[in-house]
Amino acid sequence: MNITKLLAFDKEHIWHPYTSTINPLPVYPVVSAKGVRLRLADGRELIDGMSSWWAAIHGYNHPVLNEALEKQLHKMSHVMFGGITHEPAVELVSKILPLLPPSMDKVFLADSGSVAVEVAMKMAIQYWQAQGKAKKHKFATIRSGYHGDTWHAMSVCDPVTGMHGLFSGTLPVQYFLPQPQVKFGEEWNEAAIYPLDSLLQRHGEEIAALILEPIVQGAGGMYFYSPTFLRKAHALCKRYDVLLIFDEIATGFGRTGKLFAWEWAGVEPDIMCIGKALTGGYMTLSTTITSEPIATRICSGEAGCFMHGPTFMGNPLACAVASASVSLLLSQDWQGKIKQIEAQLKHELAPAQELPSVKEVRVLGAIGVLEMHNPVDMAYLQQRFVDEGIWVRPFGRLVYLMPPFIIRPDELTQLTSGLLRVLKSDYQRMNP
Ligand SMILES: *Cc1c(COP(=O)(O)O)cnc(C)c1O
Repeated sequence: MNITKLLAFDKEHIWHPYTSTINPLPVYPVVSAKGVRLRLADGRELIDGMSSWWAAIHGYNHPVLNEALEKQLHKMSHVMFGGITHEPAVELVSKILPLLPPSMDKVFLADSGSVAVEVAMKMAIQYWQAQGKAKKHKFATIRSGYHGDTWHAMSVCDPVTGMHGLFSGTLPVQYFLPQPQVKFGEEWNEAAIYPLDSLLQRHGEEIAALILEPIVQGAGGMYFYSPTFLRKAHALCKRYDVLLIFDEIATGFGRTGKLFAWEWAGVEPDIMCIGKALTGGYMTLSTTITSEPIATRICSGEAGCFMHGPTFMGNPLACAVASASVSLLLSQDWQGKIKQIEAQLKHELAPAQELPSVKEVRVLGAIGVLEMHNPVDMAYLQQRFVDEGIWVRPFGRLVYLMPPFIIRPDELTQLTSGLLRVLKSDYQRMNP
């Protein structure tokens, strides 16, 4: 199909994430991707700074991942998980369990991050119902979080930047705490935990669980907070009999410098969600994991089981490529690589602090964030980045980089220098 036709058809009929059909923003046709490069239909190549929403940690078209998929393809692409099991699922779960908090024991294979969050929330509700505490059905969380776009996941996203206004009156109402005031690396201040303490004291009896993205809040604000907050929150949840859910969908598999972000604090959640980088960005797959005692309690309730079962549960192709991705990550010095990316991001993004449009520069692991004073013009910046040969998609007041871990230092320099050049000229454009 010729590109003009393809784009015209797309514009006419295809919905992209968060876009208007009346006034669609431009999209860029990608024809192939390899390593850290996306190839556009016009032949231009872009260095990828997004890892396709933080999932493609090994880059694109990786021979090891391709081979795992191909091998599985010739055995079976899919088979229902009701009443059937298979090696790809068993192999994947046996690989990830040793990487998770020691108490994590029962794994539910779901099909996307949002579904993993729904599953976690349903687990929490069924857990309390099973012990005659149906009143405990609300959730607490912190502001500027992001947990997905489905119904209950959406109810615990940030109430301002999320979709609460739009759906108010129809969404379940949850309890929101201020974002932890103590940033990552700052000295702890006990006052930062008071709001949670007071909420759980007052409403603990209605709250099923506290759900958090540990250490790094992703799509809701790209904010890094103190591990001590997690330790204190863990203790409070125990004291007030509230479950703790860690949503590690964005933070899992090395992104923050630890394999999973709970390790920064060393406290275990009751339920944990992982997704995004699980398959190295090849396919959609997520998991919700809980401990044996919680699973047992859930299943001893009225229903006698956990009430969820997606059609594509445990998809063998997704499990096979996820297994290969996990092994590939663990077979290399991933920590050394993340440290090197972190040091380079810190060094090369530091000059952005001098730009009048930039409020704060922060870096943790393979995440580099420029928080701007004002919301950015996404379509304009996107096009300028493409002209620079880099793929960066900002949102709100945030311009950030989350490159694939395989990125070479010279490629990372191209990303950071392109980014800074564009932001500098954008500032000059806005303030002639
Ligand atoms: C992306 C994300 C989700 C939602 O995952 P989808 O696969 O897009 O449904 C949930 N929680 C966090 C922390 C995420 O980053």
